[in-house]
Amino acid sequence: MKLSFHGAAKMVTGSCHLLDTGHHKILFECGIFQGPKEVEALNFEPFPFDPGSIEYVFLSHAHLDHCGRLPKLVKQGFHGKIICTRATRDLTRLILLDAAKLQKEQADDASFDTEAAMEQAKEGKLFGETDVFHTIGLMETYNYGDSVKLSDNLEFRLRDAGHILGSAIIEVWAKNNTGRERKIVFSGDLGHRGQRIVKDPDMVSEADYVIVESTYGNRYHKSRDETVLEFLGIMSAAEETKGNVCIPTFAVERAQEIIYELNLFHRNNLLSNMSVYLDSPMAIEATEIFKKYTDMYDEDAARLIEGGDDPFEFPGFHYSNTTEESKSLNNKTGITILAGSGMATGGRILPHFMHNLPRKNSHVVFVGFQVEGTLGRDIIDGAQEVRIHGKKFNVEATVHTLGGFSAHADQRDIRYWLRGFGTMPQRVFMIHGDSDICDGFAQNIAHELKQDTYVPKMHEEVELI
Ligand code: ZN
Repeated sequence: MKLSFHGAAKMVTGSCHLLDTGHHKILFECGIFQGPKEVEALNFEPFPFDPGSIEYVFLSHAHLDHCGRLPKLVKQGFHGKIICTRATRDLTRLILLDAAKLQKEQADDASFDTEAAMEQAKEGKLFGETDVFHTIGLMETYNYGDSVKLSDNLEFRLRDAGHILGSAIIEVWAKNNTGRERKIVFSGDLGHRGQRIVKDPDMVSEADYVIVESTYGNRYHKSRDETVLEFLGIMSAAEETKGNVCIPTFAVERAQEIIYELNLFHRNNLLSNMSVYLDSPMAIEATEIFKKYTDMYDEDAARLIEGGDDPFEFPGFHYSNTTEESKSLNNKTGITILAGSGMATGGRILPHFMHNLPRKNSHVVFVGFQVEGTLGRDIIDGAQEVRIHGKKFNVEATVHTLGGFSAHADQRDIRYWLRGFGTMPQRVFMIHGDSDICDGFAQNIAHELKQDTYVPKMHEEVELI
């Protein structure tokens, strides 16, 4: 039985791992590479395996770095089944269609010297809308906890990863050519314990081999309660001075987690009547998907629903869908605006920044990690003046960063989850983390939990004995 790593190996994106059991070839995910140009160029390299020979893809969740190369896989001959939860299917559809639209817009907007260059750019597009529909058509959905036999030699079960709605840990039982069975557990992205809408990650107690993410293997997040208090403080200050609050936010999970807290502030009369606008068609669609799958919510959220409170509907909460609705917010004061993109690299948050950054009584709240080189990062690093669409704007607004809304497990969470296996796994593979973080975390775990850890290199193949 062989396992090989074709992405997210000593890096955080492009998750794609091939398990060849001797009877079946299966992939754990097929995600996109994101980041600097040389990393994104990897998306255009041919797969080091024949896509047509893969029978099953297990998809842990809808984030692009886990699902973004699926349409390419399908385009190049994959015709097997993509296994995931219902919520992952719906969110993946939303996220892949948005990515296809963005690629089309970029190709349409680009100027080319020659027709040949234009053709090449079109060819260079990773996938289009039609490829997304073909991909979604191959998806088969399963519930958490159901044991499913795909053949006499292959069985699987999805468990809740508690990262974003629908996210799954994948347990696979596979027999090799001699009939010997091995259990492989793939963590996907693990959630941060204490998130409000999704449950905490399921603990798994047995495995021969574990493949675990280590994105934040070197970091501790602030607690959610502390973060919520800080958030309430910001909202109250803004309310007092009738200032606006602008929150750049990712469309899936982060936006809903923030709305969830704002609903609780309202419900508990902690804020008087500040209007909140979700100014992002994609986040609005994602919220509608969240409303469909209340059966996946954790206890607190489920209790709210049972008590008749919809966390995504409260007085003063509005969807802002059209461009006109978005523009009309420019004239309002004393409101909260949630808009993408999460790192202020584009999208509707930019015009709101143009209006609000120069206002002394406005607040800008960052709720997610800001990558170096983004406008969001410049602002949290203390830039006094920024450029948006070529124009200069002074930063007079108060800038805040809230660390506890992360949907990712931190060092403590991953260690806690790995502890569930005891010393049983023959080997724990550390993936989905920057090279030095994976290496350091692997050493820590080997030392503390006495587990045999290994950090695979890109395209490395290992034998599972
Ligand atoms: Zn993720």
